[in-house]
Formats: sequence, structure tokens, C-alpha cells
Amino acid sequence: MSETPEPPNRPTFEALGLQPALLRTAAAAGWVTPSAIQAAAIPAVLQGRDLLAQAPTGSGKTAAFLLPLLQRLLAVPGAAEERPRRLRALVLVPTRELATQIAAAAQALAPQLKTVVVVGGLSINPQMQALRGGAHLLVATPGRLLDLTRQNALHLRDLDLLVLDEADRLLDADFADETRRVLALSPRQRQTLLFSATLPPAVQALAGQVQRDALALTAGAPDTADGEAGASGSGAAAHARITQRAIVVDTARRSLLLRHLLRSEAWPRALVFVATQYAAEHVADKLRQAGVAAAALHGDLSSGRRGQVLTDLQTGQLAVLVATDLASRGIDLVHLPVVINYDLPRSATDYTHRIGRTGRAGDQGLAVSFICADAPGSEAHFRLIEKRQSLRVPREAVAGFDPAAAVSALPADPQGGVKGRRLSKKDKLRAAAAAAAAAPRSR
Ligand code: AMP
Repeated sequence: MSETPEPPNRPTFEALGLQPALLRTAAAAGWVTPSAIQAAAIPAVLQGRDLLAQAPTGSGKTAAFLLPLLQRLLAVPGAAEERPRRLRALVLVPTRELATQIAAAAQALAPQLKTVVVVGGLSINPQMQALRGGAHLLVATPGRLLDLTRQNALHLRDLDLLVLDEADRLLDADFADETRRVLALSPRQRQTLLFSATLPPAVQALAGQVQRDALALTAGAPDTADGEAGASGSGAAAHARITQRAIVVDTARRSLLLRHLLRSEAWPRALVFVATQYAAEHVADKLRQAGVAAAALHGDLSSGRRGQVLTDLQTGQLAVLVATDLASRGIDLVHLPVVINYDLPRSATDYTHRIGRTGRAGDQGLAVSFICADAPGSEAHFRLIEKRQSLRVPREAVAGFDPAAAVSALPADPQGGVKGRRLSKKDKLRAAAAAAAAAPRSR
């Protein structure tokens, strides 16, 4: 991001009111100019405002809440004392990986403060141990946090600042109950910050119940024409840096197509999304059999393994990570060139988060989605995803993997079927998908 030209009228970090210690650590992280969301959010948080902030994936959201939050913690006299008496700040997130990542960022920006991570899937005892001396900042997933409050290992009575990162996920059906319980344990008089790349209207309505007079911020991608706060946060703008491709293929040939693309496109690293834990293992297995350094990432793996495969992808030990939606939110894989939707995501929101793993911090990215010609609904589902983004992605077929080609390669039957047999249901679906792919469509 620092290599891109400085956008006009973007203030400096100094002008945003950050104190010298944080200016130094931000500079040490290589951050020269605040991103749009940082420029908008930092002064508002320093003034004590509640925020409902929407900004694209990879646009520097973490620092947008961490920098002012840490400044407020540091402003307290004797803040850097070894045994903080009160837990004043909590960042709540949906996954362990995101918690670990945010805590590492906080530690790097303010090493004089004590940041503790509490997440499920790991032994609780070391986390209780870490909390024993108190903490300035806690980064947590909701379930484990509630466990620890039940065991009196911590309380939230002194919280001044509460951040819900990936707020829409924390308020959706899977997490809403736990998130509400966490909110109920914290004081009413607190500052509450909600951040996400996607904030559907239903979540915005819920936000009104947990915030006071929140300032709504929508900021575009860094360094782009839509980069100023207040600009439209539409999906198209959010993905300005990500080229999207859609390839029509038979379900059973996706694995071969994936191998073909990895070879022919020579991407150094790739993140492949699938629908289930089984598929993650299965696809990774097939890739390994073909000599590709691949691994699976899903919720059934140990925390250690999950962390290890992410590190291995980052360091180049792995060429491909085949993941469930566990990896779709917040994870910051620096300079990841491509995300592949082997299975389409369930929703347009998940699509936004998945493809947001590439094209981060000013990089260009590529997102490739497989549309299954023989799966009824695959094309229609992708159209819905396009509609939500107000974007049309041209359908492609890859030579040798064109579903229509497989049928048309056979001798033609004057009745319209393949010679020697009637047109099967599958053939009809293929033909319909090919026709849909070829036909120009309005938005
Ligand atoms: P985030 O959206 O918070 O996950 O951040 C995405 C990436 O942008 C991370 O790798 C950050 O280190 C990086 N980043 C955050 N703020 C800035 C900035 N002001 N300038 C350059 N890079 C940044």
C-alpha cells in the first residue's frame, strides 16, 4: 500500500491526533498514509463516538480501531504498569485465527500494554494463567470469553471500549446469542465500535440496540477514486482491486481443472474455498497426489495445525490451501495472488469476504469461481452474487474443460440429441448453461 501514490487530501497519521509512540510503531509497520477508513475512524474514536463502520476487505480496518483504542488505553496515567487493574478494552471476533492476528497487531503497535487472547479450541488453563495478572486489552471469541467469565477468571464490568470486528457475523444466527450475553455483561456506558466489510440492513438495525448515537462510516478501498470516507460502499467499489473470473465446468472435472490452472497460470500461492470439511481434505489430497504442496484448513483441525498451515502458505512452504469458510473472514494473507471458489459460497456476503483474502492493502488480486454446468442452480446462484455486487463477470470455458465441448464433440443427432441416444436431463442442463454463458445479459 505504501508504494501506491498518495491520494489527494488524505491527512497524515500525525494530523489524526495519534501520539508519538503510536506514530513510531505505525511507521515501523510500514504505514505511511492512513487508509480511507483509518482517516475517518481514528478521530471519531478518539472523540469517544460509537461507530458503525463499513470498509472493504483489506483496507486497514484493524488499525482503524486498534490505533485509537490503544491511544485511549495509553492515555490513562500509569497505563503501562505491569499489572493492569481494570480490563478496559475488548475486541470480539468470530474466529481464533482472527483473534490471534489482531492481538499480534496490538502487541506490535503498543508493546508496553498487555494484550491477552482467549479463544476456544485451546486448553483453557494457560489462558486463565495469562489473565491472572490482569490485561489492558482482551481479544476474544465469544464462547471462550463466556466460559472464563463463568469461572470468574475475568469480568467485563470495567470495560470502556468494546469492538465487534466482523460485526455482521457476530450478530448472525450462529453467534448472536453469545454476543448478546457478552454485551449484557459489559457496562451500558461504554464506547461500542462495529466494523465489517459487509453490514446488511438487518445488522444495521440491530446495531441501534447495542450502540448510542453511532456514527455510520462507509469508506472505500485505499488509494482509489472511491477512497474517501462517505463514498459508496457497494460491492463493485469494494472489489475495485480484484479481477473476477467465472469458469463453467462439469462438477466432476473441477479437480482436474484446478490442477490445470495451477500449472498453466503458475500462481505462486492460492487459497481454494470449498463447502465442507470433507471436501477440503479430499481436494487437498488429490492435489498432493498430483505433486502439489497442498493442505486443508477447516474447523475440525487442531488450533496448532490451523495456525501452521496458514503460516506455511504465507512462507511458501505450501502452494495451495484448501479451506472452508473458516478462512473467509479477516485473515490477512499478505500478497495472496488468487482465491478460487471451487464450491460457490452460500451467500453474496460470504463471497465478498472470501475474495477479500486477495487484493489487500493496495495489491491487485484475482478471484476465480467455478460454475458447475451440470448442477442445477449453480449458474442462478452466481447470478445472485453478481447482482448483489452490481457486477457482471463474463463466463469462460477453459479449452479441454468446456462442458458443452464434451457433448458437441460427439456426432450430432438431427433430433437435437447426441447420436444414438436421446438428450439426457444432464445434457439439457449443460446446453442451457452453455447458452446462458454465451448470451449477453443485462444487469
Ligand atoms: P486489514 O484490513 O486491517 O486486515 O489490513 C490489511 C493490510 O493492510 C494489513 O496487512 C495491514 O498491515 C495493512 N495496512 C493497514 N493500514 C495500512 C496503512 N495505513 N498503510 C499501509 N498498509 C496498511
